[in-house]
This record gives sequence, C-alpha cells and structure tokens, in this order.
Amino acid sequence: MSGASVAMTILALKPAPARHSMRWEDFIMTDDSFTDPATIAASMIGISDAETGDVAPHVKPATTYEYGKGYSYYRGTAPGLEDTERVLARLEGGEAAMVFASGMAAATSLLVSLGSDTHVVAPETMYWFLRNWMIKDAPAFGLSVTLYKNGDLDSIRNAIEPGKTKAVWVETPANPDWSITDIAAAAEIAHAARAKLFIDSTTSPPVITRPLELGADVVMHSATKFLNGHSDVLAGALITKEKNDLWECVNHARAGFGGTLGAFESWLLLRGMRTLDVRMQRHSENAMRVAEAMLSNPAVSHVLYPGLSDHPGHEIAAKQMKGFGGMMSIRLKGGADAAARAVLRTKLFRNATSLGGTESLIEHRGPVEGPDSPTPQDLLRLSVGLENAADLIADLEQALGQ
Ligand SMILES: *Cc1c(COP(=O)(O)O)cnc(C)c1O
Repeated sequence: MSGASVAMTILALKPAPARHSMRWEDFIMTDDSFTDPATIAASMIGISDAETGDVAPHVKPATTYEYGKGYSYYRGTAPGLEDTERVLARLEGGEAAMVFASGMAAATSLLVSLGSDTHVVAPETMYWFLRNWMIKDAPAFGLSVTLYKNGDLDSIRNAIEPGKTKAVWVETPANPDWSITDIAAAAEIAHAARAKLFIDSTTSPPVITRPLELGADVVMHSATKFLNGHSDVLAGALITKEKNDLWECVNHARAGFGGTLGAFESWLLLRGMRTLDVRMQRHSENAMRVAEAMLSNPAVSHVLYPGLSDHPGHEIAAKQMKGFGGMMSIRLKGGADAAARAVLRTKLFRNATSLGGTESLIEHRGPVEGPDSPTPQDLLRLSVGLENAADLIADLEQALGQ
C-alpha cells in the first residue's frame, strides 16, 4: 500500500468524534440547562480540549497570537483569561466578566471608568485600603466620595447628590464589622438617582450571594480571597449585568493601566473555584460554631457574625445569603492590649492579614488600618478556615484564657 492509502485507511477507521468533544467554549456558552453555581464551579469548567476531551482547563501562557483568530496581544484579552471569565460570568449570572491582576486593580479600573468630575458614595466601614484610595487618591482622577453609615439606607439616600452621583459602592458583609446592606433596597435607591450599584462581594462568593439577581449592576471580587481559596493567587474580578458603555471603558482601563491577570494565576483561579461550593459550606459551618463558642467566652465582649440572631443585619443576611460565610470578628473586654496579646498566642490561627484561604487567620485589625480607621482597637478579625471546628475553638480558648 502506498503511504497515502495507509493514511486514508486509518482515517476511515477513526471513530466519529464523541459527543462530548465539542469545544469547551461552545459548551459553556450554550448549555444553559445547569444554572446552579455549585454545578457550574465543579463541572462546567471541566471540558477544555476538543481533540482529547481533557476534563481540566489548560494554562495558556502565549502573550501574542497570529492575526485572524480573534486575539492580538495578551494585555487586551487572552484565551486563558476568557476561560476564567466565562465561568465567573456564569457563576454570577452576568453577561460578561473581566479578571485583573488584583482586587484593587479591578475596583480602581471600574471607578475611574465612571469618568472625571464624578461623585460616588461608599460605606464608612469597608476594605480599608480601597477606602483610603477613594478618599486620598481618587480626587486626582476627578472622583470624589461621600461616606454613608453601613447598613443605613437613609444614610445612602442622603449621601447621594442627584445628577452628580454616578455610583453607590456597597460591601456586604463589610470588613471588619461584617455589617450587612440590603442589596435589593440599595439598588432601588441607586437607580432612582440614575446611579449604578457596585457590590464588593469578596466575602460572599456566588454560591452565597448573587448580587446581580438582586439588582446590582457590577459585582467586584478580590479573587485572591474565597474565589481562589488557597492563599496562592493575587487576582481581581468584575462581573457585569450587561455589556454597556461603562463595560467598554473598563475594558479600556484594564488594558491602559495594564492590570490584566497573568496566565498562571488565571489557571490557578479556575482550579481553586472548582471546590467553591464545598469550601464555602465548610467555612460557614465552622464560622458559625466558632461564633457560638465565642459568645460564651468570658474574655469576649462582642461577637460580630451575621449568622448570629442578635447581629443587626441578621434578617437581611438570611434573606440575601445562603450560609453566612467564613468571616467574623470578636471584641475583647481587655481592650487593645488583650487583642495584641491574643494574636501572639494562637497556634492554629496564623497571625496574618488576608482572608478566604483553607487555613484560619487572625489579625489585630485596628493597628493595621491606621489612625483614620473607624475599627475599634479591641477587635480581632478571624478568617475561619476549613480545619476541624473543635480544634479552632480550643485554639482560641487557650489564646484568650489567662
Ligand atoms: C482583599 C480585599 C480587596 C482588595 O483585593 P486585592 O486582591 O488584595 O487587591 C478588596 N475588597 C475586599 C473586601 C478585600 O478583602
């Protein structure tokens, strides 16, 4: 047989392509039969290679692409970023998502995209670094901010300047007192003033809260935290309800500032998100058990956790959250000194900043946030991880004991 006819025979014997070997991009974009975030996270990010049927996504590190295939240079957008963005958009129920080199890159790109001579309103208590950026750095970009009282809808109304305010920023639960804002009510207030509603949903990933369904326009995540979940990626994400002019500006800002996420980080983020639902369930269960144990600890004056029925935002949290998440704070009767001592005595809770990883972290937050911070000096912030809950409680009890 000639070489050509051997090849033809082999081709003829080749089985028809299996049904599952469709392009993953087509699968995830077109199959709407499964909408639950747990299913999307665990499974829809599985099919990535039309030829081989790989069930896990690939790292796609190329920084430039032959013309004619829809891509040009990585900083604008890249295939590996789009994999992650499709999953995020599906998880939040939005039209599109964009990933960034950090949560700060995501938040600031969104805010500067509102244009210059812009006013936004934001909570008094929120992620301190972004709050400081809004107050101190944003004016240089033509953006001014008025702060409202967390969880107080009248205070949001009063902070809005009709005709000038372009966005209401909400973080719920908010760092580090975990106060709750009613997203649906805030959406009504913002929209009545023709302003957008932006939600920092870092501590409430989409298996817990889906802000776009409640009326928000854009959701922001520090994907460094629960979305990735393993304390080994710095990343940010925005998910928009609709691809509109603002979204175009954000796209432009990402490329212009160069805040695009790296290829390996994008892949790690996808990998981390596969276990999002089980992780969040365990975070919520453990945090609830730690919170209940802390209520009866003699060294503790306040337990701040939205899952507790005496938390001021509990009812709204129960309405808009599925589980109450892994973040809580405690305040100590012994004041700042007792707080400073306790973080040196825990063994399982590591004394470090950040949150949302598998390991539990404890931080004396006031001194970290500096003199302008509204955070009480007796407050300890806990990121409750996935360890055995009894071990976590025992560790805190020994650290808070005499
Ligand atoms: C960490 C964090 C941010 C900032 O995200 P980075 O990824 O650290 O840039 C924003 N908001 C909240 C609530 C955070 O916890």
